[in-house]
Amino acid sequence: MDLFEYQGKQLFGAGGIPVARSTMVHPQGPDPLEVVGALGLPLVVKAQVLTGGRGKAGGVRVARTRDDLTRDVAEIMAMTIRGKRVVGVLLEEAVDIDRELYLALAVDRAAKRPLLLFSVRGGVDIEAVARDEPQALVRQHIDPLAGLHDTQIAELVAWAGFAGGLAEQFAALVGGLWRLFCAHDATLVEINPLVVTRGGRLIALDAKVTLDGNAAFRHPEWAAYETDADERERRAAEAGINYVSLDGDIGVLGNGAGMVMSTLDLIAEAGGAAANFLDVGGGAREARIAAALDLILADARVRALCVTIFGGITRCDEVAHALVNVLSAKGAAGAGLPVVVRLDGNGAAEGRDIVAQAALPGVQTAATVWQAVQAAVAAAAGAGAADGPGAPDGPGTAGT
Ligand code: GDP
Ligand code: MN
Repeated sequence: MDLFEYQGKQLFGAGGIPVARSTMVHPQGPDPLEVVGALGLPLVVKAQVLTGGRGKAGGVRVARTRDDLTRDVAEIMAMTIRGKRVVGVLLEEAVDIDRELYLALAVDRAAKRPLLLFSVRGGVDIEAVARDEPQALVRQHIDPLAGLHDTQIAELVAWAGFAGGLAEQFAALVGGLWRLFCAHDATLVEINPLVVTRGGRLIALDAKVTLDGNAAFRHPEWAAYETDADERERRAAEAGINYVSLDGDIGVLGNGAGMVMSTLDLIAEAGGAAANFLDVGGGAREARIAAALDLILADARVRALCVTIFGGITRCDEVAHALVNVLSAKGAAGAGLPVVVRLDGNGAAEGRDIVAQAALPGVQTAATVWQAVQAAVAAAAGAGAADGPGAPDGPGTAGT
């Protein structure tokens, strides 16, 4: 689970990692001009979005006047960066930067150890530094049982040439970051840039924190974190359904994540684009299928629905019953949405008979996933052409 910068900085603040004073502003408030009263001007306006490279994308701006601030906040709030929704802006006291450093703790899965990364070339793309100037990036593995040793910190201080107060601040910060990394079950804590101000203070100007979802059971507090999940994704999570919104126009419903992912690939292969990933999992429980269809049918972009079920322990005829009941109850078939149902495996023949006998308008069966996908792509293209504007963007946009 990735945290927004503002959430990461809350952890930093509580963990004694120095950050600049800031206030989070959501579309619903507070008013950015009220923040001027508390923090003054200039303020740095920073997009809160779960992707990096905000600076380059225009998502980090320095507002020097009240008018600048009002405009920058409105513009950045409305942005989408690399396909990710901006949930709000962090208004931060501007800092006078002397130098930009890079500091991170990550899990090195190959080495089965935490890894500390440090560079005096911060504020830039660290992958580029690692590639072009590997000598400018220090890598230190940390013994997971012994923890970060003082001698390791001393080596970093010597390597960077820090002295006096700066050396002390750095040692305290690295130690604090290690404790934070462990206490919060993080898999990544990255500060880029970690800045030295003109006044000689060390401040974490950015925060990228990833928490290990496997540790959620011992962090009830994580449930309260704001995410960038859209309304549909939130409802799906509540219903226990694995759902992800995508950019296309073909609804996809299957049992099993592998099944759904391969269906997404086939849709792209057939020149279509999926509107979502939706895995109803095992079992044919009608309530779950009803909730799943609700989610897809509520999505106005969906021009065709592709259902692919492989019967194992779950029998296809049970799923077919549930589907027919739900589709007829919702009047989805009557609303002109083309639905292609592919049933294979245990109980497939009986399942197809059930769908055929129900004779719901617009609902057809297919014998293979590929046939189902082709029929759904053709149906979506037909619906798109008939509707004129708002037609699909074209092939190849389905992601997994
Ligand atoms: P990112 O592009 O998503 O990594 O966003 P960052 O939070 O790292 O900000 C990008 C850049 O904006 C930083 O590297 C800084 O150069 C600059 N920046 C951010 N905050 C401040 C600030 O308070 N003062 C100044 N002068 N520059 C800032
Ligand atoms: Mn950054």
